[in-house]
Amino acid sequence: MQSFVPSKNILSASSSRYTSYTLSNYKKLPHIARLSDEQKFVIDVVGSVLPFKTNSYVVNELIDWDNIPNDPIFILNFPQKEMLDPVHFSEMAKRIRREASKEEIRKCANSIREELNPHSAGQLEYNRPSLNGEMLSGMQHKYKETVLYFPSQGQTCHAYCTFCFRWPQFVGIDELRFAMRETELLIDYITKHPEVTDLLFTGGDPMIMRTKTLASYIHPILAADIPHLQTIRFGSKSLSYWPHRFVNDADADDLLELFEEIIASGRHLTFMANFNSPRELETDIVQEAIGRIRATGALVRTQSPLLRHINDDPGIWADMWKKQVKLGCVPYYMFVARNTGAYRYFGLPLVTAWEIYRRAYQQVSGIARTVRGPSMSAFPGKVQVVGVSEIRGEKVLVLQMLQGRDSDWVRKPFFAAYDEKATWLDELKPAFGEERFFFDKE
Ligand SMILES: *Cc1c(COP(=O)(O)O)cnc(C)c1O
Ligand code: SF4
Repeated sequence: MQSFVPSKNILSASSSRYTSYTLSNYKKLPHIARLSDEQKFVIDVVGSVLPFKTNSYVVNELIDWDNIPNDPIFILNFPQKEMLDPVHFSEMAKRIRREASKEEIRKCANSIREELNPHSAGQLEYNRPSLNGEMLSGMQHKYKETVLYFPSQGQTCHAYCTFCFRWPQFVGIDELRFAMRETELLIDYITKHPEVTDLLFTGGDPMIMRTKTLASYIHPILAADIPHLQTIRFGSKSLSYWPHRFVNDADADDLLELFEEIIASGRHLTFMANFNSPRELETDIVQEAIGRIRATGALVRTQSPLLRHINDDPGIWADMWKKQVKLGCVPYYMFVARNTGAYRYFGLPLVTAWEIYRRAYQQVSGIARTVRGPSMSAFPGKVQVVGVSEIRGEKVLVLQMLQGRDSDWVRKPFFAAYDEKATWLDELKPAFGEERFFFDKE
């Protein structure tokens, strides 16, 4: 482990050195002295169940240590007590307190994890494509135009978000599910599916890969020159967690050249950036990184889930969207937090999500109103909460799909009985006494 350099004044070279912190070494951070023993104990307990990883950039430049425990970035990376059910918390606390064996802690953690809905939204079972009768494990193809690709070497991140819906793979209960190294299979699949226009590299975070590794995926795809493949996307949180990736890392320039190569092939490159809080857009280094990505010809689009304790306020979203537009980014999606992992801590009622969305939307000009939401990535599709209305005396929630398992479902308004507590599609009942929603028919 490299030595940790806390001072911002000695910065430059030392600040661009990535050091990660997990349960095993986070107590070495000088800032941790600001936490009480009780707070550290909470991190040890919750961090034994949910993934915990942060890094030198997040700790030194994003977290406001004068604003603990309420700082949004602190909550974004550091486990909080209420992320676990009190019963689960005390089960684990008991074992940490008496220094139980690793094996016992692992067993206890795994049994709690199984109760946190680790396989939400039918991710793994339903969206796996097949080729010549063989299931492909490193891909998802749910919506006609877009194939998701999970390069096996991009399945981790520069830090872990406490809200992450991919958390099972970071705690090892979903290992290798998404491992597909063979770009050949991917190329073969896309070639045989002329309806596919978009290829989305996701993870984890594909920007965790060294440029050379990423190029070993990209070059064969460009060489195959599939005529219907028009857009390549990278889904990434590295602009928030490690913007040095695009500025100071030894292979930063090579990475940007790779972006240029994609664009020179006649394709569009969209960098899908995840920002959860305005702070992530404020440092000099992130602004420089965004500028460098844009200078390649790539477009940066932004998205985030709506999270209680982090960004459950219209002013925060309006601020984020304005900052993004100013930096040349295009606000894209506001998601409803998924019902998995630490969801009990982050989740919000759909009605509240809609209120926050529209109050934020009202505060920005049309240029930032490109953002769609709030949207649930549910089993049948991406379901947007259009709003609350009243139809012939019945209060209803108006919904529509922005993406659908069947593309004919898209943009057909449908109605659910008003429910101010519901937080996910499966808690809603059809309005007007109907038995099912139209997409449940078959
Ligand atoms: C969101 C999503 C996509 C991309 O949808 P766009 O609306 O084109 O951005 C593709 N596949 C899955 C599974 C998704 O959740
Ligand atoms: S960066 Fe994305 S995949 Fe990684 S922990 Fe955060 S939400 Fe999960």
